[in-house]
Amino acid sequence: MTDEKRYLSEAVNRIKPSGIRKFFDLASSMDNIISLGVGEPDYTTPWNIREASISSLERGFTSYTANAGLTELREGIAKYLDRHFNVDYDPENEVIVTSGASEAIDLAMRATVNPGDEVLVVEPSFVSYAPLVSLIGGTPVPIPTSIENGFKVTTQAIREKITDRTKGILLCFPNNPTGTVMNAGEMEEVAAVIQEHDLVVFSDEIYAEMTYDAPHVCVPALSGMRERTILISGFSKAFAMTGWRLGYVAAPEHIAAGMLKIHQYAMMCASTMAQYGAIEALENGREEMLEMVESYRQRRNYFVTALKEVGLDCHTPGGAFYAFPSIRSTGLSSEEFAEKLLFAERVAVVPGNVFGEGGEGHIRCSYAASLEQLEEAVERIGRFIKSL
Ligand code: PLP
Repeated sequence: MTDEKRYLSEAVNRIKPSGIRKFFDLASSMDNIISLGVGEPDYTTPWNIREASISSLERGFTSYTANAGLTELREGIAKYLDRHFNVDYDPENEVIVTSGASEAIDLAMRATVNPGDEVLVVEPSFVSYAPLVSLIGGTPVPIPTSIENGFKVTTQAIREKITDRTKGILLCFPNNPTGTVMNAGEMEEVAAVIQEHDLVVFSDEIYAEMTYDAPHVCVPALSGMRERTILISGFSKAFAMTGWRLGYVAAPEHIAAGMLKIHQYAMMCASTMAQYGAIEALENGREEMLEMVESYRQRRNYFVTALKEVGLDCHTPGGAFYAFPSIRSTGLSSEEFAEKLLFAERVAVVPGNVFGEGGEGHIRCSYAASLEQLEEAVERIGRFIKSL
């Protein structure tokens, strides 16, 4: 072990820094870049949400809130989940407001996974899942998906990875990085296997509002799933609030109580001014949110077609704001493609391998950019492919 590493824990030494940040940092030091790299809305948070937060400061609401979050916000979250996703949670005991969905994922893992437990991670996946499982001594077990079946997870793939140490499964639909959604029938089949093996489900539904072709399928709303599911979500994507750091978990009371013990010691409570903004987002933010979602849909329709026209095989993402085209036809690895594209044409994308096994041979492009930028990006990508 090198000298500097000896003060760090084994768990920290085991995990690697996020591959997304590496590319983002490289791109931000260059001029004339079109960035399709970072997964965040290109909108500023709607004004009424910002104003509600400003107003809370003006009124002097600057103290801690209850550990689980403001009662009014928890009630708003429970009502929102019930109205739009048909799941019923008690705001008093089953909802915790967190510092982003990121903290929510960490809480869910730490409250349920023991060292030595295996957690199934449907891959390609959001970059934080596997490292967070590793940090608590669990073993992330990838379940591969591929472009051939639109990156959907199959019951067979799950069954192949279940052992007597499997504790839970991480699901994320609509998915980052593939944009894949699962329909109700497909999800019910997966749910049956999960119930058969009595697994805990970590369902990251942060892109729930961003579905373009079919309504969102909320995992705890499926028969037999609520009792075993920790629902993870937040305000970052749908309401364009990434910098506010506000998310939540909803889970059966005994699991929520376990997560609250960690949250109260590690975080105390989420940011108070952000919580006031979030109350407004839930009460009066739907119309503007739906307009943003509609614009992502239009950009998806343009971007995916345009990528195909310049020669990249791309499945049509049903949700989120990512396209995940295959770059296998170029003969380059994901890293080579992303790096060469960045230096040759100044377009920043994320190499697919940073999202786990099935991601190699792909790149992730966020289409939460203006249509003009997307057009320019496609032109540059096309020119780059021709030059190979
Ligand atoms: N989950 C998924 C699938 C994501 O893509 C992201 C952000 O990119 C997060 C969670 C983190 O969201 P938050 O900003 O609420 O921490």
